[in-house]
Amino acid sequence: KKLIAAAPSLTSVRIPRAGRDAQPVVLSVRNVSKTFRIGRGQNLTAVDDVSFDVERGRTVSIVGESGSGKSTTARIALRLENPSAGSIQFDGTDITTTRGKELRALRRRFQIVYQNPYASLNPSLRVKDIVAEPLVAFGLGTRSTRPDRVAELLDQVALTPEYLERRPAELSGGQRQRVAIARAIALHPELLVLDEPVSALDVSVQAQILALLDRLQNELNLSYLFISHDLAVVRQISDTVLVMRRGQVVETGSAEDIFDNPQHEYTKELRNAVP
Ligand code: ADP
Ligand code: MG
Repeated sequence: KKLIAAAPSLTSVRIPRAGRDAQPVVLSVRNVSKTFRIGRGQNLTAVDDVSFDVERGRTVSIVGESGSGKSTTARIALRLENPSAGSIQFDGTDITTTRGKELRALRRRFQIVYQNPYASLNPSLRVKDIVAEPLVAFGLGTRSTRPDRVAELLDQVALTPEYLERRPAELSGGQRQRVAIARAIALHPELLVLDEPVSALDVSVQAQILALLDRLQNELNLSYLFISHDLAVVRQISDTVLVMRRGQVVETGSAEDIFDNPQHEYTKELRNAVP
């Protein structure tokens, strides 16, 4: 509670998003469900009939407590996991069953950033090599052949060139997340899934990363699927908010509606947890 009470720095980055023009849909998730077999004859429905659209250049957030199905929904949206039912469209194409080369081609167009950048950054690599990883993976060069691109990516996340030579252990949590974001935008993706990207950070650093994400969205016309258990964070960055509980979407609305005028009892509980 004490920590959250220091949140005024967060509200200072708040950008009003209500009433912005509609944009073309880049990601469309339709009636997606996911059932896991968790034991002999026992099933768990982690995601239950979830539908939403992400418009180009806009942010849809999923908020809900741990275990509500947020990450599974995101992984299905990116085809990192297959749905048990439902469909996914990306840029107008049904990708529910896309495989092989076609799926690999799609992987350039959407990227994911996780909560703990330290876990996803190879500790033995220098920043310049981490940022160049997607270039190498897609045969588009290395940090040696593309030094300008690597420097540009670092600049886009507001890290000075001296960080090129550092390893993850020599960075702060916020700097590591900047490196993870630089890597995520290396291939000019259209959609970023941000799965609890600021949850491991101090509140003041959270505000800096949210401001960075907001700037990059405007500069690069990125679409975000933003995941968080924290309604105070979601409020900063969302156009549309989905409230998930036990695999189901219990309420959908603009960030303003969800925060200022929650309808569902569960949303009110989440809202009341924000000072
Ligand atoms: P959240 O991201 O909201 O914390 P998750 O999507 O990670 O929720 O998980 C939703 C539910 O699905 C949880 O009960 C979790 O234990 C379960 N779950 C997630 N992945 C698997 C899996 N691979 N096998 C079995 N159960 C899983
Ligand atoms: Mg999760």
